[in-house]
Amino acid sequence: MPATAIYRNLRTTDNKLVDIACADGKLKAISPAGTATGDGQAMDCKSQLVLPALVESHLHLDKTLWGMPWRPNSAGATLKDYIANERKVLREVNVPIARRAGSLLEQCIARGSLHIRSHIDIDPEIGLRHVEAMLQLREAYRDVVEMQFVVFPQTGLLIQPGTAELMEEALKMGVEAVGGLDPAGIDNDPIRHLQIVFDLAVKYGKGVDIHLHDRGELGLWQIERIADFTAATGLKDKVVISHAYCLGMFPTSRIEALGRRLADLGISLMTSAPADTSVPPVDFLKALGVNICCGSDGIRDAWTPLGNGDMLERAMLLAFRFEWAKDAELVSAFDSATYAGARALGLSGYGLEPGNAANFVILPAETLGDALARRPAERRVVSHGRVVAEGGSFLDTRLT
Ligand SMILES: [Zn+2]
Repeated sequence: MPATAIYRNLRTTDNKLVDIACADGKLKAISPAGTATGDGQAMDCKSQLVLPALVESHLHLDKTLWGMPWRPNSAGATLKDYIANERKVLREVNVPIARRAGSLLEQCIARGSLHIRSHIDIDPEIGLRHVEAMLQLREAYRDVVEMQFVVFPQTGLLIQPGTAELMEEALKMGVEAVGGLDPAGIDNDPIRHLQIVFDLAVKYGKGVDIHLHDRGELGLWQIERIADFTAATGLKDKVVISHAYCLGMFPTSRIEALGRRLADLGISLMTSAPADTSVPPVDFLKALGVNICCGSDGIRDAWTPLGNGDMLERAMLLAFRFEWAKDAELVSAFDSATYAGARALGLSGYGLEPGNAANFVILPAETLGDALARRPAERRVVSHGRVVAEGGSFLDTRLT
């Protein structure tokens, strides 16, 4: 289908049959089924469900082993063991990032994600190599998928001299957000860590996205400090805390005031809905106004062999984690993989509205709940008005 096209007989999530007309890559009009007129080819979508393109809020594309032979997980027990093991694994891999990350990116697109945030590792050993490769990858797929990056000090910031300077270089090269990693648990000096992260964000007009695995009171204390820095630097709506397991370790009464602070400052939370540890209480925090999105985190890498890049599946896992079953709860899970992700990433022009990019997913499902429950593979992905994936495959591979 060309970028000027009409998709007929689509079922919306509120059960209306509509036509969607696209022109010049934009969504031009949504009208009752059978009424759209205009140029271009028309496709009868036979009452299939239409969803806005999915938003993947947290990936690590540069470290994936996707497309490579199966590699048994060789990590030790602790977070530091995992970090050391990953460095060993990536040293041994001779498949370039363009191939590994490109393969996974095409998988994510085929499953309907057209807006993706990926963290990129940086440290004195790998320097800017991953950043350079990922910036090239973004250019190769720019016409299909909107990508933004976080420069991520995976092996620590303060404990790895030279890392802050490399992060600054990455920001100058076009990376959108400054990452951080357990300012206390890994770097042992949380205030200094946060000072560097927020200084860089202010200096270069970037966002912030911090991995926070630290648990208990230490974790909560750091979220308070992140809120302090956000308020002091005026970075309202530009900060994400990824994981924040600690928020799930206390009675809700203990985190209510902190939740209100996060909402006031527009600090978003990202969860991968892990099964084996505490997770922020999504319902409770959303009721306070906190924006909570979800992401896959690592997929087929040295951390985990699991994951498939399907954000409908990630939304299902969130629902599964909290035993959500009611339609309204499934809508909330879906929101975390779409609109909440768009807010966390600061996307403009997102969603099924005239004037926005014509980015959507068409799939054989009865309702949104049905889509989450079954996650059919035979979905059709439309990017900027044209079909870019069908039946689980990206139609325009750029892998060499
Ligand atoms: Zn991560």
